[in-house]
Amino acid sequence: MSMFTDIPVDVGVIYEGERIRKKDLYVELGGPNVEYKFELVKVREIGQVEDGKIQIIGPDLKDLQEGGSYPFGIFIEVAGKELEESLEGVIERRIHEYSNYIEGFMHLNQRYDIWCRLSKKSFQKGFNSFIYLGKVLERLYKSELPIIEAIQITFITDPEKVKEMHKIALETYNARDAKARGLKDEEVDCFYGCLLCQSFAPTHVCIITPQRYSNCGSISWFDGRAASRVDPKGSIYRIEKGECLDPIAGEYSGVNETVQKKSLGAIKRVQLYTAFGNPHTSCGCFEAAAFYIPEVDGLGIIDRGFKGVAVNGLPFSTIADSTAGGRQVDGFHGLSIEYMRSPKFLQKDGGWNRIVWLPSSLKERVKDFIPKDLVDKIATDQDVKNVEELKAFLEKKGHPVVQRWKAVAAPPVIEVKRKEEVKELPKEVSEAVLQIPSVTGGFEFVLEGVKIHAKKLIIKRRVQSSEEKGS
Ligand code: SF4
Repeated sequence: MSMFTDIPVDVGVIYEGERIRKKDLYVELGGPNVEYKFELVKVREIGQVEDGKIQIIGPDLKDLQEGGSYPFGIFIEVAGKELEESLEGVIERRIHEYSNYIEGFMHLNQRYDIWCRLSKKSFQKGFNSFIYLGKVLERLYKSELPIIEAIQITFITDPEKVKEMHKIALETYNARDAKARGLKDEEVDCFYGCLLCQSFAPTHVCIITPQRYSNCGSISWFDGRAASRVDPKGSIYRIEKGECLDPIAGEYSGVNETVQKKSLGAIKRVQLYTAFGNPHTSCGCFEAAAFYIPEVDGLGIIDRGFKGVAVNGLPFSTIADSTAGGRQVDGFHGLSIEYMRSPKFLQKDGGWNRIVWLPSSLKERVKDFIPKDLVDKIATDQDVKNVEELKAFLEKKGHPVVQRWKAVAAPPVIEVKRKEEVKELPKEVSEAVLQIPSVTGGFEFVLEGVKIHAKKLIIKRRVQSSEEKGS
């Protein structure tokens, strides 16, 4: 791009999605090895922002030791007559997109969890100061979002200052998220789609609804609305809901249509409130991932910040790899922490009644949103170390999944006495286990499409758990 002739490396969309491996990195900013990192955008009054100002608090890139990982903050202040606070989240998310245009610079994740890498090659080409990063961001912001009339950018590497600003950033994110709570999916006539992560996961389309926050946890339905208003042809766009095909699973005809179109046919259906069947796709930026634990018929959730291994022995990175890349993987599901606070959280699967394990730090974060009678029944890394211990814990605490084991193990017996009563099994007993003890009478019915004749029969029906009944 011609506006970057004074930048020592190339800048362009072709670099989006570029990965910088450990052996190629010059320095790492934020990421899993450092505790404090953030990116934050604030909308200011006109006159409060010095347009074009770029400052660095702490050592610049050239003063950082090669191979190191450093605390890092990106703080952007913007002003403009049409700018409003509701756009902060969306403008902030563009840091990911724009910084990834830089050759040899990688930006992953969002908010309190950013992870950037600069390659050795780009450093050697002369990209040795945050000033260059600032110039690229400033110019892209102003050319892509003309409502930004003034922008100033501060990069922070001083550990104490990063820590101090990190606290302010967390308060800001919490306030934004809290504002978006309360509105229901049924109360709106449209959802929003986001394609920002297609550079990393080409078939991924985020569907953002009031009650299903984006996977990255940084774009709410209100953010989507604000973004599509200021830039209707941008990566965040309005989706007509269409017909609600399944209110429990969260399936909408309008969502299916847009996902088919934007994934170029790779994904045909999406059910928003489930980790099974046709779950929402996962890119790579999700804050946490749900994973099925077959031994207990429950779901665990592991977040990106958790450094240990989950109860099934796998770390976040392995679980994340099982679902990332824009795929739908049965039983593995990328999600945001804010979605865990939603009443629609994995509703089809039983919601919190199906969650059996969490890292203790994550449990603490979402504790107020877990039904009170369940809080002590969900195990953490502090309670159990493996699936055997988990099973014993759940049984001892009387977790609702234990009822599911019993229901499968000991179905009640329903006797069908007369032929006329058994024309076709109702849908809810499609998982029935049949026993036909003797062929002495005359019964006829259809089970899962197969016609069955019997003289005498007993149907053993799996008991529906309470959450299935509610569904
Ligand atoms: S995770 Fe989803 S909402 Fe967030 S930037 Fe990526 S595509 Fe957009």
